[in-house]
Amino acid sequence: MRSQIHQRLDAVHNRIRLAETAAGRRRDSVRLIAVSKTQPAEAIAAAYYYGQREFGENYVQEALAKQEKLAHFDIGWHFIGPIQSNKTKLIAAHFSWVHSVDRIKIAQRLSDQRPKGLPPLNVCIQVNISGEATKSGAALEELDELVRAIATLPRLRVRGLMAIPAPTDEMDLQRASFRSLRQAAERFGDLGLDTLSMGMSDDLEAAITEGSTMVRIGTALFGPRPRREAAFDAGGASER
Ligand SMILES: *Cc1c(COP(=O)(O)O)cnc(C)c1O
Repeated sequence: MRSQIHQRLDAVHNRIRLAETAAGRRRDSVRLIAVSKTQPAEAIAAAYYYGQREFGENYVQEALAKQEKLAHFDIGWHFIGPIQSNKTKLIAAHFSWVHSVDRIKIAQRLSDQRPKGLPPLNVCIQVNISGEATKSGAALEELDELVRAIATLPRLRVRGLMAIPAPTDEMDLQRASFRSLRQAAERFGDLGLDTLSMGMSDDLEAAITEGSTMVRIGTALFGPRPRREAAFDAGGASER
C-alpha cells in the first residue's frame, strides 16, 4: 500500500505543479488536503510517511476513531462533510478547519463550542454554485449576509469559500463554476479572506487555473474508496 500511495502522491503533486505553472502561479501556492474518508488509518499513516500533513474527513465518528489511532502524528484535520447540529461540539474540539459551514446556526454552535484552549476554528463557507436544490451549501444570494454574520463570531476565523460543483468532464464548465466561486469571494475583500477550497480528483486543474488555494483530493491519492468499515458505523450510522 505504501509504495502505491507514494506514487499517487507524487502524481498529484505533479498535477498541482503543472497547473500552477500553466496558470502563471507561484509554486506551492496550492495546499493539498488528502481526503481520507472511508480509508483506514493505515492509509493516512502511509501518506504521512511520504510527507502529507493535512487530511480531510467527512464523518465525525469515523474521523475520531482514526484521530485516536494517529494521536502521535502531527496532522492538521479538516472537516469537509455535511454538518448535523448534534455533531458541532465534537467538530469544534477535534478539527482545526471546517470547510462545510453553510448556515448561521451551525456557525454559532461551532463558535460557542470551540474549546477555550484552542485557537479560533478556521472556517470556509460552503456555497452552492451549481444551484441544485439537493446539494448542501449556501445560495449565492444569501452569501453576503451569512459571511458577514459568521465573521463576527468570536471563536471562528473566516478564511474563505468552498464549493463542490456539479460534476462534468468539460474543462470550460468546470472553470465557469470555479470562477463564480472566486468572483463571489471578491465581494469580501475587506474581510481578508485567503482561501478558496475548490478542486477534487477530477477537476483540480480547472480549480487551480481559477485560483484555488486548497484542493481536496481523495480518489487520486488513495484509489477507489472502500465501503465504510462496520466499526465506524457504531453511533455514526446517521451521519451520511
Ligand atoms: C469525497 C470528497 C472529496 C474528494 O473527492 P475525490 O473525487 O475522491 O477526490 C473532496 N471534497 C469533499 C467535500 C468530499 O466529500
